[in-house]
Amino acid sequence: MKEIDIIVPCYNEEEGIEYFYQTVKQLVSEIKNYAFTFIFVNDGSVDGTLCKLRSLAGKDSAVKYLSFSRNFGKEAAMYAGLEYSSGDYAVIMDADLQDDPLLLTEMTKAMEEGYDCCATRRMDRKGEPRIRSWFARRFYRLMNRFTDVELIDGARDYRMMTRQMVQAILKVRERERFSKGIFGWVGFRYKWLEYTNRERVYGTTKWSFWSLFRYAVGGIVAFSTMPLKLFMALGGGISVCALLFMMYKIIKTLVLGVDVPGYASIVVLITFLGGMNLFATGMVGLYLGNVYSEVKKRPIYILRESNFDERKEKQ
Ligand code: UDP
Ligand code: MG
Repeated sequence: MKEIDIIVPCYNEEEGIEYFYQTVKQLVSEIKNYAFTFIFVNDGSVDGTLCKLRSLAGKDSAVKYLSFSRNFGKEAAMYAGLEYSSGDYAVIMDADLQDDPLLLTEMTKAMEEGYDCCATRRMDRKGEPRIRSWFARRFYRLMNRFTDVELIDGARDYRMMTRQMVQAILKVRERERFSKGIFGWVGFRYKWLEYTNRERVYGTTKWSFWSLFRYAVGGIVAFSTMPLKLFMALGGGISVCALLFMMYKIIKTLVLGVDVPGYASIVVLITFLGGMNLFATGMVGLYLGNVYSEVKKRPIYILRESNFDERKEKQ
């Protein structure tokens, strides 16, 4: 009998968590030859999620939970879940039932066929603001053009992975985690399942437009140094233009004498270059920030409570 861990990051999912558990439990009990364990990761929820998890764990020994000391983000929650998983396969699943549990059967089949990972991607962005979809598509185009990792548009975190692949992901210990990139970066053989988007069953999304924007910038910074090169090229180009302009001015002054007008062009140039300078410095700052948080070597998450055995605990 093979063991499968279902890792569920939860942040303020009080309303839906029990329904999620019942639905998934019911479904997996029908999948033969596999034993499923739930690993709920309470990512510093401020509602009653933890109480619900404790009571679920009290009733079902196949329910494990980890609870963070504060909100560390979904990336950290996934990392913790993977770190504590010990089954042959691990699945990452959202608590809102947007990830169709019916696909689990198909995933186990894919694993039997010898794939290392069976991941899901949604084929549409129904129920999402148009502007968000537009930005999302631009983001994927940009990432695929300028980074070494292949990012699949619409890829979800919902996926089943072998122990070997989990181990590989855990080795990537960077703090500014961008899992979509890390999943691609570690490689392995993938099978993609495609499905159409579903609405959340309970609660609301934890992502605002700006948090997604920051996430996208974080992803670019984590997996590409293209912006740095871009600014080097831009700076070089502007300097060459400035030199040419200067030579033109000198020759013109020698031939025609001094002319007073030109005030406007100078102001425009100064402000433009000033803006560019600030932008470029900011860009470098983003990378430097990442380097800073890596060298501090802070843990990816801090645990406050869990029902794992002492000896199994990693911290
Ligand atoms: N989540 C989390 N920590 C956070 C934000 C979200 O663990 O800081 C969890 C959340 O409880 C859910 C999953 O990550 O199980 C996906 O969140 P959400 O449904 O809000 O994202 P969306 O489906 O809108 O992309
Ligand atoms: Mg969701």
